[in-house]
Amino acid sequence: MTHSRIFLAALAGVLALTACSEREEASAGGDAGVVNLYTARHYDSDLILYERFTEQTGIRVNRIEGNADQLLARMQAEGEASPADVFITADAGALWRVQNAGLLQPVQSEALSTAIPANLRDPEGRWFGFSRRARIVAYDQARVQPADVDTYEEIASPRFRGQLCVRSADSVYNLSLVGALIEAWGPDRARQWVEGVVANMARPPEGGDRDQIRAVGAGVCQIALTNSYYYIRLASGDDAADREITTRVKLAFPSLDGQGAHVNISGAGVAANAPNRANAIRFLEYLTSAEVQTHVSQNNNEYPASPNVPAPAPVDAYADFQAHPMPVSAYGPRQAEALAMMSAAGWR
Ligand code: FE
Repeated sequence: MTHSRIFLAALAGVLALTACSEREEASAGGDAGVVNLYTARHYDSDLILYERFTEQTGIRVNRIEGNADQLLARMQAEGEASPADVFITADAGALWRVQNAGLLQPVQSEALSTAIPANLRDPEGRWFGFSRRARIVAYDQARVQPADVDTYEEIASPRFRGQLCVRSADSVYNLSLVGALIEAWGPDRARQWVEGVVANMARPPEGGDRDQIRAVGAGVCQIALTNSYYYIRLASGDDAADREITTRVKLAFPSLDGQGAHVNISGAGVAANAPNRANAIRFLEYLTSAEVQTHVSQNNNEYPASPNVPAPAPVDAYADFQAHPMPVSAYGPRQAEALAMMSAAGWR
């Protein structure tokens, strides 16, 4: 080693020590700067999480809220001057859109790759899931047997002609599901499934997933496609009429090729031009901690992303199912093909 290299090594050591002591000051309540969140999640319970993060790190949290497409457009317009550090949204398909627009950057973090299973994050580290949801079936237990809906094929089968309620084709949840079916089955078989779904619709798509579950309760249809957390919210929420519906309308977890139910995520990534990159990574590590995964699950009724974090009540009552192991990063690149297929079949 030359003298100058020794000097540089020693200097690096000093800088590392400085960084450590700054971090200690921060965790003791000093000013460790800010992190700017662009978030499509709007839960009051998230505010408590942000406060705790500030208490633990000294990093202040600023929030910009909007839906995923609005935030994407805003980041695009802001370009290199964007103050966005972290982007947060639901659905791997939505995260892919932001990634595909070049608005996220890769992150290497031992904590993140340990906390989150490989199939629930971008292989290049541009986004990480912190909670999971399954896209499954709510069924009228007076008219449907659980065995009638234990595969995705059955949802599109003649057994349910005119008996299916489902939201519109532009819902990213449906685009991701069809994307997954294209990935699993290839386009021809996926197209047949989409055509079967359209043939089975009890009515033209309207409303969100909760409206489909309520329509099953009202006898409009025998089955509905829904994300798991919407059903769990109706079953455990404050509305007595909704709770009554869930005594008659039950949840089934169809299996894709015998490998489990279609699963999606809520996730977050570091913005491409993040001015506070280190704080952004710390925030992602915090989001994926067991403490936060549990809090999120409790409050919005998704499942924790990590298999090592047990689902808390009320989600635990619906957590005993097999999740398909397909990487959720497969959904986004299939979106355009999925939408074209759905539109051609008349799925509005
Ligand atoms: Fe949702």
